[in-house]
Amino acid sequence: MSSNSGIQIPSRLPLLLTHEGVLLPGSTMRISVETARNMHLVKNRLLKGTSLKSTIIGVIPNTRDPEHDTEDLPTLHSIGTAGLAVQVVGSNWPKPHYTLLITGLCRFRVAQLLKDGPFPVAEVEQLDKLEQYTSPEEMSEAAGPEGELRELSQRFYQAAVQLVGMLDMSVPVVAKLRRLLDSLPRETLPDVLASMIHTSNKEKLQVLDAVSLEERFKKTLPLLTRQIEGLKLLQKTRKPRLDDDKRVLAVRKGGVLPGRQFSLDEEGDDEDGDDTAVLDRKVKGANMPEPALRVCLKELKRLKKMPQSMPEYALTRNYLDLMVELPWSKSTTDCLDIHAARVLLDSDHYAMEKLKRRVLEYLAVRQLKSTLKGPILCFVGPPGVGKTSVGRSIARTLGREFHRIALGGVCDQSDIRGHRRTYVGSMPGRIINGLKTVGVNNPVFLLDEVDKLGKSLQGDPASALLEVLDPEQNHSFTDHYLNVAFDLSQVLFIATANSTATIPPALLDRMEVLLVQGYTQEEKVEIAHRHLIPHQLEQHGLTPQQLQIPQDTTQDIISKYTREAGVRSLERKIGAICRAVAVKVAEGHNVTKSEAAPAENAPQGAEHREGKRGRRGEEPNGVLADMAEPPDMPIVIDHIALKDILGPHIFEMEVSERLTLPGVAVGLAWTPLGGEIMFVEASRMEGEGQLTLTGQLGDVMKESAHLAMSWLRSNAKTYQLTNMVGGSDPLEGTDIHLHFPAGAVTKDGPSAGVTMVTVLASLFSGRLVRSDVAMTGEITLRGLVLPVGGIKDKVLAAHRAGVKCVIIPKRNEKDLEEIPANVRKELDFVTASNLDEVLNAAFDGGFPGMSNPLTLPHIVSKL
Ligand code: ADP
Repeated sequence: MSSNSGIQIPSRLPLLLTHEGVLLPGSTMRISVETARNMHLVKNRLLKGTSLKSTIIGVIPNTRDPEHDTEDLPTLHSIGTAGLAVQVVGSNWPKPHYTLLITGLCRFRVAQLLKDGPFPVAEVEQLDKLEQYTSPEEMSEAAGPEGELRELSQRFYQAAVQLVGMLDMSVPVVAKLRRLLDSLPRETLPDVLASMIHTSNKEKLQVLDAVSLEERFKKTLPLLTRQIEGLKLLQKTRKPRLDDDKRVLAVRKGGVLPGRQFSLDEEGDDEDGDDTAVLDRKVKGANMPEPALRVCLKELKRLKKMPQSMPEYALTRNYLDLMVELPWSKSTTDCLDIHAARVLLDSDHYAMEKLKRRVLEYLAVRQLKSTLKGPILCFVGPPGVGKTSVGRSIARTLGREFHRIALGGVCDQSDIRGHRRTYVGSMPGRIINGLKTVGVNNPVFLLDEVDKLGKSLQGDPASALLEVLDPEQNHSFTDHYLNVAFDLSQVLFIATANSTATIPPALLDRMEVLLVQGYTQEEKVEIAHRHLIPHQLEQHGLTPQQLQIPQDTTQDIISKYTREAGVRSLERKIGAICRAVAVKVAEGHNVTKSEAAPAENAPQGAEHREGKRGRRGEEPNGVLADMAEPPDMPIVIDHIALKDILGPHIFEMEVSERLTLPGVAVGLAWTPLGGEIMFVEASRMEGEGQLTLTGQLGDVMKESAHLAMSWLRSNAKTYQLTNMVGGSDPLEGTDIHLHFPAGAVTKDGPSAGVTMVTVLASLFSGRLVRSDVAMTGEITLRGLVLPVGGIKDKVLAAHRAGVKCVIIPKRNEKDLEEIPANVRKELDFVTASNLDEVLNAAFDGGFPGMSNPLTLPHIVSKL
């Protein structure tokens, strides 16, 4: 207050009478102005005055009850405080009034009242000689007659320091006060502190009236001491709470409290206060990157302020729980050894050499470059050929966690990227969920069935996947629910699909497609005996000593009970056998001679199998090795047992049985489920030359049918084809119907062209198509045969169906290399470059075209 030292207050002061509170020098007070006299003072003096002096007024406490305030000026208190009006705020509501902010400067005594209206003005005598005040340093040095005052002020100072020390120093005002204590002249301290501590108006008035410094110190010291004692008492009663705070602090820091073990179980018992403390510790221990941590701390702060009953409490809690559970920096260490990987892949999977080689290359490059950048592997093939299972093996060879994300039918991008937290029931997407499940940030994610991604109004999930798969972007993948970036760059993604046709092109572009084709009959038998049967036995708690499935039986299951490119339903059938046998074993019927395998059959079967094993020179599998000395007679599944368990054969119709009429031929089709044979049928009736097509055909197929029809019409003379009335235009007076079973399955593609020509040629010529021939190939209007896709799958399907000869386009000859040697050996291939060659091969004895004019059509009349 040394700046005030030179202040000389005017000798005439307008007086403001206050009803509440006492303004002391050195403090600031807000005073409400409502009485008429005070209002006049503010209006006429404060609001009109221009000089600094005009803003200094005398504040006199009015000890009289304001209700009894009358027109007459009350007897004034003789001592007041001169104050500087720092701020004047006026308002008309609820009634006109002003609020003044006034800082007290010094005491004055009213010498004489000069006038009392409209507001009182008095001649005053300044009491506090501010310029006499000494700074703290001077005071400590000063000695002499004022010794007692010095001691008093020292005691007062110490008490003040003690008081301030008991307050929370982290509050800025308290810290400032502490600094002020040292810099203020000691004489001003009684006024300053008296206005701060709890005192009644009466006590303040006594302080105001204490004009002599000594008296002032004496009056305020007891007030100060009382406040200190009061504070001490308060702290004592709050002590247990403080202990609580300390305990929470200790828990937050992850420390252990002295003399007390703190276990997690106890945390559960604690109330919600500690609940957030535990969460707080988890957040700090989750090792998350800075931005995520910041968000978490913010949410945590909000959570602490929220009552538990608020719906948002649960939402925020769930969010935080997920955030702390995510593996921000938890990962497994890769332990890749290419040699071991090869052994493992080989032991897990039979055949699929090409795929295994490519996977090993991929892993080797990864090992050398130690980065995951590069195309995503995408295994494309029919169901049940081991795509998922290879993915799982890759994870095993790397020592990584494996997680499969099924994308079939996903048509909402929130499935990938999560819902924003503003939605009710919002949750993270499958990627983040997967990471939470595996608990590490570098798993192998198998994106299953990427070709079955849908699209809807809720956005395109494929574009969300693009971001996930793009190595340039996925280090900061932002799930809508999390709303902070998560680094996916360490995740190894592998995709699977049944066909590339429906994979969104942008997605396909990011991936390296590896075709996984269907298996031949022999491969399936091997897979069954090496993997499926041991696996199913184990699953059903059986041993090879209890159940044996000979290879003949397996072959029967494959050909008579399944028709598929993969081995999934084969595995299911084996599972069915295991279940049936498990019942027998459980019932204690572990004897087979009279039941599953008739007496004379069992040893024969064994010999037969032994013989076969010897012939083929293959390693003995578990089943056969144990045959020599069975510890207990195993249940051997022979043909009879097979029929008992699986029922009558499901696929039995021989190709030859279907080809007993002209107008039927076997086509080969490729479907996402592998290759299939297809019986194409045609019939004709009197009509107006209409061509009817049934069997859910696509546009391309319909066009093929028209092509076939046109080519035959244009070549009808050459091939000596006739219509129903003997004319040379096959369509004259005739309607044609062409049907492709199965009628419920949509079909499309150009590869049925040659089959349609053959069917129609058979129909118009009345000759039967060879029953052991199947064909595929696209046609042109000029009768050329163009190459088609899926040759391997188609040929395998033909082989499965017992076909002997396959007609393929000449330019597909190179694809035959992919076909396993044993299948190739058992089939005849006709490679055709034009339709002449196709027809010649499809009919016994050739077809009477230009190249073979000797064979003539003869049974037209039969139709
Ligand atoms: P996909 O993912 O291609 O539909 P899965 O990987 O689920 O097929 O395979 C189905 C079953 O067939 C699995 O039990 C798998 O182990 C088995 N399997 C498929 N191909 C092979 C193979 N070449 N060797 C061993 N088991 C196989």
